[in-house]
Amino acid sequence: MLLNDMKISVKITLIYAAILAVTLFIISAITGAGVYFGFYHQAEMELEISMDNAKRFTQNGMRLDKSVYEEDVLLPGVVMRVTDEAGNLVVDTDSHYPSISRVMMNLRAEKTLMASPKLSVAELKNFIIYYGKVEVIADQKYTMHFFKTVTSEKKFLRSLLWILFFTNIIGFVVALVAGFFISGRILEPITTFTALLQSVEISKLKERIPVINRRPDELTEMAEKFNLMMDRLEDGFKRQQQFVSDASHELRTPVTVILGYADLLDRWGKGDPKTLDEAITAIKGEAKGMQELIEKLLFLARADQKRQVVKKEKSDAGELLREVIKKFEIVSTHEVILDRCDSYETMLDPVLFKQMLRIFLENSEKYTPAGKKIGANFTVDGEFPQMILFDEGIGIKKEEQEKIFERFYRVDEERGKQKGGTGLGLSIAKWIAQEHNIEIKVESEENMGTKIILTFEKDDV
Ligand code: ADP
Repeated sequence: MLLNDMKISVKITLIYAAILAVTLFIISAITGAGVYFGFYHQAEMELEISMDNAKRFTQNGMRLDKSVYEEDVLLPGVVMRVTDEAGNLVVDTDSHYPSISRVMMNLRAEKTLMASPKLSVAELKNFIIYYGKVEVIADQKYTMHFFKTVTSEKKFLRSLLWILFFTNIIGFVVALVAGFFISGRILEPITTFTALLQSVEISKLKERIPVINRRPDELTEMAEKFNLMMDRLEDGFKRQQQFVSDASHELRTPVTVILGYADLLDRWGKGDPKTLDEAITAIKGEAKGMQELIEKLLFLARADQKRQVVKKEKSDAGELLREVIKKFEIVSTHEVILDRCDSYETMLDPVLFKQMLRIFLENSEKYTPAGKKIGANFTVDGEFPQMILFDEGIGIKKEEQEKIFERFYRVDEERGKQKGGTGLGLSIAKWIAQEHNIEIKVESEENMGTKIILTFEKDDV
């Protein structure tokens, strides 16, 4: 809960410092326990071995005196004293060693960790003594007392524990400080990113995250992906703005013309049938142009919003071409030829498909001088079915061929307008083709003619 409210850098640091602290603690505990066990266990063993040896020694009828060291009964460092029934000291291997009574007075009440059940532990001021006793019966009952000091071990262990404790604290603090610093540095791009996100607005789409050192890490990737997204947004927004401004521009001319004629009628035309006639014809023509433009704009807007309905059904593309050509022949002022036209059943939206064919044919009609031919053919025996629409018109320059599919693009603005073009036809055709997985290729030569080659992707059909 508390962690959730923290910054990622703080969170990472705390989690890692905590993991480090636990690890250090476990290592220290294992080290401490290992050393403790090693030292104390060894002392206990030495004392117990000495006690067993001494017991066996006396059972064999040997006398206990200072010779027990020479006989290897006692291990080095183990002190032995023997008292008789009356409590008199009869053997003492080290007279400087703390007296029996002093050891007894300082015996620990509770059992010490690891002390074997046979042994007791006395804690004197500066050292610990392991103590054990064995009773033997000879001419009377004797008690053998055994002692083993663990002075230096105790000191060493205490220092070791302090060292481990301070190492843990220092390690933890270093991890915290370094963690804050390093995670802050690593996550710096995110801070920049956040600041940038706050400043991004529609009017400030130029902002990008600086990617100075290209490191193959997640943050660099995030910055690059974000910049790419901004590129797309900026591009899309620019195109949208351009589209709106072009559309307004296109609509301004007919509105001005209509207003002009309305003005004319208002002033002089009402009583003059000739002016009236001319004005009505012009207004109707402009309004029709506007209507067509608005229809096209709406089509593209629907396409952009993915709202344009595409109702594909099994249709014969060749048949649709024949149908369009037939109707086109009637209105065309040119000689229209339909060469070979194969049948090809495929899934397509017949209304949209015919609309696309009409766009190409109407362009041919507009940009082909009188007396020249316009035509089409459709072959399906190649690798892919191919539909070609051709004319013997004015052609399109190589450098213009890519651009003609852009919205509102007209090779010759004035002439295009005169011909009633909006510059939107090919954008619509391109969209329809894409929806049907049809590739459009333009082959054209100035004053020779234009060929629009439509290649159908077989897989989709
Ligand atoms: P428009 O409505 O102006 O015809 P299009 O998007 O249909 O708009 O075409 C874009 C431009 O491409 C036209 O203005 C014209 O200059 C050129 N174009 C298209 N088809 C042909 C053609 N068959 N012959 C010559 N130029 C063409």
